[in-house]
Amino acid sequence: MQLAQPGSPGPVINRGDMMILAVASGKGGTGKTTIAVNLALTLEATLHVQVLDCDVEEPDCHLFLRPTLDMAEGVTMPVPDIDSSRCNGCGRCAKVCAFHSIIMTGNQAITFPELCHGCGGCSLFCPTGAISEKPVEIGVIESGKAGRIGFVQGRLSVGSALAPPVIRAVRRKTMGDVKGWVTIIDAPPGTSCPVVNSVAGVDFCLLVTEPTPFGLNDLILAVGMVRQLGVPFGVVINRSGLGDLVSIKSYCQQEGIPILLEIPFDRRYAACYARGGRLVEEFAELKRAFKELWQKIEETLENERTKRTAGH
Ligand code: SF4
Ligand code: SF4
Repeated sequence: MQLAQPGSPGPVINRGDMMILAVASGKGGTGKTTIAVNLALTLEATLHVQVLDCDVEEPDCHLFLRPTLDMAEGVTMPVPDIDSSRCNGCGRCAKVCAFHSIIMTGNQAITFPELCHGCGGCSLFCPTGAISEKPVEIGVIESGKAGRIGFVQGRLSVGSALAPPVIRAVRRKTMGDVKGWVTIIDAPPGTSCPVVNSVAGVDFCLLVTEPTPFGLNDLILAVGMVRQLGVPFGVVINRSGLGDLVSIKSYCQQEGIPILLEIPFDRRYAACYARGGRLVEEFAELKRAFKELWQKIEETLENERTKRTAGH
């Protein structure tokens, strides 16, 4: 099982021509970005790789990849614009809006664009045609290259709470022809809508955790999410020398979840991270570990495929 090498059309896995891998975590601060970035740096020598930073509230892959950005474009969403001269005060728009983005004060419809989800329901149901839609910028997409690695990131505008449309825009904004590419998505932390938008439809998900009571609890939530989405997955344990490793390992064993990588706690690794360094370029043992991680991902996917084929 092998992906295309740069410059050669070579054999590929999954979907026939591409692979999308998400790196997610039930909570922030587990080292998700570290895994995404260092896996990309490990693969770039032999494969076409792109990184999509979908952690749009706080994108930080750029701190480590240091890309040259050559494109920026706004992400907009249509919000209602009410022509008060045509409004008869019927209140239908306020009733229709599930997000309380429109309220009635007497006979006046008042909008709160920051709560709007752009569904278009209000304008559809307005009996007088008083509602038109105007685009409002909710974020920006930036893209470029970090060495050989393609790079795209989204940033949510300050004051905007709607991450999913920006995340979807990041996922659409890949490097054009992605045949034979490995796409690595750095997902937001947690298990809510933004994470689902980042992980849904990927070929494989790495769940990054750490051996703390909160780490286990949030891992269990994240496992529930990826199982709901039907995405094959494995676990990476970061800072594995700290806390209660036994509980995480026994949970994974009980659930039949493969542990694909353990990164021990090491002050040198922490110092490297703190100054924006690249672990796989500074520590040969981690370069080997990330190569093995990639092999294990491929093996796990192969096993999944074999299981699915046997089930048919
Ligand atoms: S549905 Fe249209 S007419 Fe009715 S209150 Fe809303 S904007 Fe006014
Ligand atoms: S577009 Fe949808 S979410 Fe926005 S105000 Fe209208 S009904 Fe509410």
